[in-house]
This record gives sequence, C-alpha cells and structure tokens, in this order.
Amino acid sequence: MHVRTVLPASLSPLHDLAVNLRWSWHPPTRDLFAGIDPELWAVTGQDPVAILSSLRGEDIERLASDAGFVRRVAEAAADLERYLTKPRWYHEQGAGRWEGRTLESIAYFSPEFGITAVLPQYSGGLGILAGDHLKAASDQGIPIVGVGLFYKSGYFAQRFNADGWQQESYPVLDPDDLPLSLLREEDGSPVVIRLDMPRGSHLDAHVWRAQVGRVPLLLLDSDVESNDPARREVTNRLYGGGGDQRLEQEMLLGIGGVRALRAYARICQAPTPTVYHTNEGHAGFQGVERISELVTGEAGLTVDEAIRAVRAGTVFTTHTPVPAGIDRFDVQAIATHFGDPTCAIPGVPVERLLELGAEDYEGGDRSRFNMAVMGMRLGQRVNGVSELHGAVSRDMFKGLWPGFDVEEVPIGSVTNGVHAGTWVDSRLYDLAKNHLGSDIAARSVFTRIHEVPIEAFWATKRELRQQLIRDARSRLRKSMVARGSSEAELGWIDSVLDPDTLTIGFARRGATYKRLTLMMRDPERLKKLVNDPERPVQIIIAGKSHPADDTGKALIQEMVRFTDDPDVRGKIIYLPNYDIAMAQQLYPGCDVWLNNPLRPFEACGTSGMKAALNGALNLSILDGWWDEWYDGQNGWAIPTADGVEDPDRRDDLEAAALYELLEKTVVPTYYERDEHGIPRRWLDMVSHTLSTLGPKVLADRMVRDYTERYYWPAAHAAWAVAAEDHAGARDLAGYVAQVHRNWPRVRVDHVDAEGLSDAPQIGDEISVHAYVALGELDPATVRVQMAYGRANANDTLTDVELVQLTPTQSDGEGRHRFEGRVRLQRTGSLGWTVRVLPMHPHMSADAELGLVTLP
Ligand SMILES: *Cc1c(COP(=O)(O)O)cnc(C)c1O
Repeated sequence: MHVRTVLPASLSPLHDLAVNLRWSWHPPTRDLFAGIDPELWAVTGQDPVAILSSLRGEDIERLASDAGFVRRVAEAAADLERYLTKPRWYHEQGAGRWEGRTLESIAYFSPEFGITAVLPQYSGGLGILAGDHLKAASDQGIPIVGVGLFYKSGYFAQRFNADGWQQESYPVLDPDDLPLSLLREEDGSPVVIRLDMPRGSHLDAHVWRAQVGRVPLLLLDSDVESNDPARREVTNRLYGGGGDQRLEQEMLLGIGGVRALRAYARICQAPTPTVYHTNEGHAGFQGVERISELVTGEAGLTVDEAIRAVRAGTVFTTHTPVPAGIDRFDVQAIATHFGDPTCAIPGVPVERLLELGAEDYEGGDRSRFNMAVMGMRLGQRVNGVSELHGAVSRDMFKGLWPGFDVEEVPIGSVTNGVHAGTWVDSRLYDLAKNHLGSDIAARSVFTRIHEVPIEAFWATKRELRQQLIRDARSRLRKSMVARGSSEAELGWIDSVLDPDTLTIGFARRGATYKRLTLMMRDPERLKKLVNDPERPVQIIIAGKSHPADDTGKALIQEMVRFTDDPDVRGKIIYLPNYDIAMAQQLYPGCDVWLNNPLRPFEACGTSGMKAALNGALNLSILDGWWDEWYDGQNGWAIPTADGVEDPDRRDDLEAAALYELLEKTVVPTYYERDEHGIPRRWLDMVSHTLSTLGPKVLADRMVRDYTERYYWPAAHAAWAVAAEDHAGARDLAGYVAQVHRNWPRVRVDHVDAEGLSDAPQIGDEISVHAYVALGELDPATVRVQMAYGRANANDTLTDVELVQLTPTQSDGEGRHRFEGRVRLQRTGSLGWTVRVLPMHPHMSADAELGLVTLP
C-alpha cells in the first residue's frame, strides 16, 4: 500500500511541480524543493517526489503557515502553467500546416530515456540524447509523445572491487516513488497492453506516464501479475539478459508501444500521431504493428500497400557506425516469435516480416535479422547524427541501394545537440544575468558572453572546479571504502585535486572504440604531465562498461589500477557510477574535455558539447560533431592516423600526438597569465567557443532541424498517401510492383550526342538522345537522365550534374527515344552517361527503390 502525502490547498501545487519533470531543468522549482529540507534534498539525490513523501503532519503545517513559502509555491505553479500553455516556436512557424491541417502529434520511440538522475532509465549517450530531445521539443512546443520501457532496475549501479574490477548491482526501483503515474481506464483499472506470444502465451504490460514539460512519455512495464514469472522480468533491466529477453523487450517497445499510444489517445483524447520517429533500430516493430493495423483494420490494405503508407510517416535515426553495435537477431528467433498463426502482429505473414530485416545484399549475413535494415526499409526518411556519421552510414548501408553512388544513398544527417537548461550550470546563468540583465534570453547567454568581465568569468570557473572537487572527493571516498579501505587510511582524500590546476575530464561508456586507456600509452610521459611542479594537470575519469563486455571492463580495470599508483594517486582519479548527476558537476568543473575515439566510430558524441557550454575547451580526435565544428580556435584536434592499418601503431601515433598537444600547447596556454593571474589567451578561446559553438550545439537547434527537415515532410507525405482511402499508398504499391516486374527488361540500348566536337568548348550546346527499352512501363513513369561530370582515370564521374531527358518517340513495342540538351559549363576532361530510374510522386528520393539502369 502506498500512502500519498495529502497537502492543503495552498501547498497542493507542489504535487504537480514534483511530477512534471520540468523541475529537472528549472532552477527556481528545484530551489523551492531544496528549501523544504536542504539536507534531505542532498541525501535523496535532489528528488522532489522523495521530499514530498517525507513530509509529516507538522512539516506540512509549518510550510502552510509560512506565507513566503506559500507565495513561492504559487509563483512556481503559475510559471509552470505559463510554460505549458504559451505559444512556442512550433506554432509561430505554422505547425507544419498543409492543405488545412497541422501536425499535432509525433511519436518518438527510444529504448532509453535519460531525463534526470532520479529516473535512471538510460545507459549512455543514446538515452541522454532522447531525454534532451523531449526537453527541447517541450521548450519549442513540438508536439512529441515519447514511448519507451520502464526498467525496474534501470541499467546498473557501478562500483569497483579492490582489484579495480567493475561490480554491478541492480537496485530495484519502486514506480510509486518516482514521478510516474499509471495510465488507467476510465473505470480506474490500469490499462493492460497485451501481445500474443508463441504457444498461446502472452506478454502483458502496464503503461507508466511521465510528464516532461509539455511532452508525455509512456513507459511500458511487464511487471504485471497476469504474466508468468519469466515474462514479468522482461523489462527488469536495460540491455540486460540474453536469450529471448531482448527480442521480447523490443517487441514490447515497438508493438506494445503503438498499442500504448492508441490507449493513451483514446483515454486522454490526445491526437493520434502522424509521424513516428525511432531513435535507433530497437523500436522497429512499431512499423510492423502499424502495417498490421492497416491490413486487419478498416483500411483493408494489402501488406505492400500498408508498407507504403507506413513508410511515408516514419523517420529512422541510425546511431552507430560500429558494425558490432547494430541490433540483430537470429532469423530463427524471429520465425519462432512471429511464425505462430496467433502471432503478435496479425495480418503480416512471417515471410514478409523476415524480408524487412533480411541482410539479402552483398556482404550480408542471411542468418541474421537486422533491426537497422528494417528501420531503413520502413522509414522513408533516414538520418545519421552528424555530417561525418551521415557519410559513414551511407557507405555502411549502401548495399541496400545497389547501383547508386554512395553520395546518392538516401541517408541524411541531423547533428545532435544538448539541452542547455539541463547541462549548463546555473552559476553560469546567474553570472550572465548579473552582468547582462535578468531577462537575457537563453541563447544570448552564449553569444554575449564576451560582455561578462573576464575576471568574473574566471572566478566563476574556479567555483565550478571547486564544486566538482568537493563532489569528486566524496565519491572517491565512498569508492575507496567499497574497495576495502578503512576510513582511517583515507585522510589523503581531503587533499585530492586542486582548484587551480588545469582539469581534464574524460567520461564515457567503456566501449572499446572510445579508447579509455589511450592516455596511458606512455605512462611515464603522462606522470610527468600530472606531476609538473609549475604547470600540473589533473584528470577525472568515469564510465561504465556493459556487464557482458569483459574487454571494456578490463580496460576500466587497467585505468582504475593505474590511478592507485602512488605517482598519480589523487591527481588522476576514476569515479564510479557515471550518471547524469555526476555529469552535471563534471562538465562545468573541467577546463578541457578529452575525447580520443577511433575515427570514425563516434557517431556524434555529445559530452564535449556539454563541456563546451560550460566554458571548457575540447581536445578531441576529429570525429563525430568535432569533425564538423572544430574551427581551429575552439579547442584542439588530435591528429588521427586513419590510414595506418596496424592498430597498435595507430594508437602509438595518436597517443604521441595527444601528449605533444598537451605539453606544447594546452598546458602552456592555460598557465600563461597576465599580471592579474588571468589566462587571457585561454579565456579568449573559451569566449570564442561559447559565442560561436554555443548556439550550434543546442538541442533547440537539433529539434528544429528534425521538425523542418524530417517531421513536416514526413507528415505531408503521410497525409498525401493516406488521402482518399489511401489512394496514394495503393497507387504507389501498384507502381512499385509494376516496376519490379518490368525492371529486368529495362535497358539503355543506345545513346548519342549531337554537337559534340572533338574539342568541346565552354558554351557548346549538345543534344543527347537515348533509346531506352522499358517493357510495359509507361515512359512518363520513369526518369531518364543524362549524368555528366569530371571523368577521372578509372572512368568514374565526379561533380556530377544531372539533366532530365524527355520522351519524344515510342515504337509501340516498349522502346522509347528520350532527348535533352545541355550547355557545357566546364573545362577539362568530361564524361557522361545516361541512366533510367523509377519515378513516382510519392517517392522522396530517386534512389528510394534501389533501382537504376545504366547502358
Ligand atoms: C552526455 C552523456 C553521455 C554521452 O556522452 P558521449 O560523449 O556521447 O559519449 C553518457 N553518459 C552521460 C551521463 C552523459 O551525460
């Protein structure tokens, strides 16, 4: 039984303030809860719900009779109300208006959401990004509804044993103690989402709802009495377990997620989503469930027609350029789970499902069902998370669009961003407000930072370093006790780290490509850096490794044991249990944020963005976002040895480059002081970083990019194919089938060009004729193009320009003449060819069907 605190009317808004997670990025609301009991606030890890449930009768009376407190509660409640109702950017931009409609709902699926440390439903960057996406969407008024799973034990809590080996524990969360409410039917009974499973069994789930500002987040939880004991554990851990658990989690996330959205829309009269965005492949079954709805429901579409309807409104974001990081299942496991006649997704035969995730392309593995590949087949719009990652993804998945140059593979990119309200330390905001006026807009804090006196900025940065050191000492003490030290031996911890020393941060998941131990490639050289009597550096490290990743754990152990070396003890420290709470202290307290992944395996990386927003400089390999936005003055690029095949030698070279940068550039710049002790050159770089990089790395910018470049076009496409009883989807499906039937007969028989002299000159006009066989395809339904560009030695074209040719003659037997003209605009060696492509008004890219024919 869970007894809720009953509050008198004057205090009752505290309940809404505690359950709307907007408090997690709204300092005045946090201060309000902290003020109730500052000690408890710290002990509970800054948890408003815990503060409220701790209140006893006499506390409530005391607060209710404190007129100042009651007034602050009312002010905070009014502020929240304003935040929730005021028109925002989204509405100012027309809300995706199209033929009289506006886009009212976008579903956003993610296996993890990192919103606040008190709701630990994340493992790393993917989840933090999802949390920041929801928060920024809320700030901008973008009507997103999040869908995920509720993991009773979250990811895991990390500590180390005496040997420095990672120990995992799984503290159990009670949803009643969290800012969650159960989604209930009108009669008060909890909503139950049911999935049919093999052999007549089922997987049931309840739906928890969190509120992230304006954005609802639905989390499915399999810990329901009607499940058998094993199924109750399906959602017990994030990325835990083996066997079928992960598959069943993903079935619940995708299929159950769509059903939860339907229940939510029905009960709360919320609009049904038009656009479905999946953050990585894990939620891919959501598309299959929507196909099933269209096949078995009123629409009565065929599977092919339903695929076209679903694709139009689906956006898929891929996140990993590491092949091993792609989510795949055994084909057999899919066949077992979906092969039953009473399977989880009626109307979609298992062979059709298997086709969607099949690696039936060059280099693919036929025994695997690939969730990213299904994401691409079920999403008309696909993107990576930085420009470089977009390019890497086009190359990695080009097998799905054979015959096309890698540049034409229809995968774009939106570079990730971070939520300033969550990640910028409030001391920096306060500093800006003190000097620039309290009504300064969030963005202007960055662009106008140079107006803040440099001495004041530097003093604040020292406070932030001190705040980090206090936090780090207390974490380190606990860690050493857990590793078997007695309090009596730990006196040294009181003097660990120094607020005037150049502080380097390095924290991230223990994935191998992140190369945690690169910095200790030459331990003596590193020791010299930290022990320099005049110009020392100190390094704070953190990060968890997946429990099953012994390689990652071994790297962490190597690092932890190195920090025990008396030569570096207290100067290089490893803090256990990297999470949002630690991160919020760590980024602001650092001067330099180090990142040395193996290029190009960092899809984007976001921790460096958070550090930059807090006045740190990045020292990083040119990978992910840094490859895009490093400008020579906002930090340093560690040279990569990309082409070097031998990984050991590559690490040697890159580590040497890192040391050299630190010794020759970073450290000297930091310690170069003017007569007031201010590192002017350093702070110039910081100020430049904040004003130029600041606005770009914001999640505001990211969600606006998604909205304008993906959500609105996807909504328009979805409406277009759904109009008039799905006429567009039926037509496109019919066209695709016809194209597939005829494509083997499509040929470019002959091409010629008139007006092409032996010595072509700029300005010459040439006219091109192509004789093309199309089988039964109507010439008006294909695109015939002349592609011309610079020809290089191996006969490939670069800088290609395309000229559309038009049909001018048919022989009545499927052969057609196309022609067009082009005026030469370039010099040098030119090459040209002609190609035939499918063309349909509901296709979004020429390469969409992966079909092209060349002479
Ligand atoms: C930002 C963040 C991450 C992701 O950092 P990357 O640089 O993308 O690896 C992981 N964990 C926490 C707690 C974070 O705040």
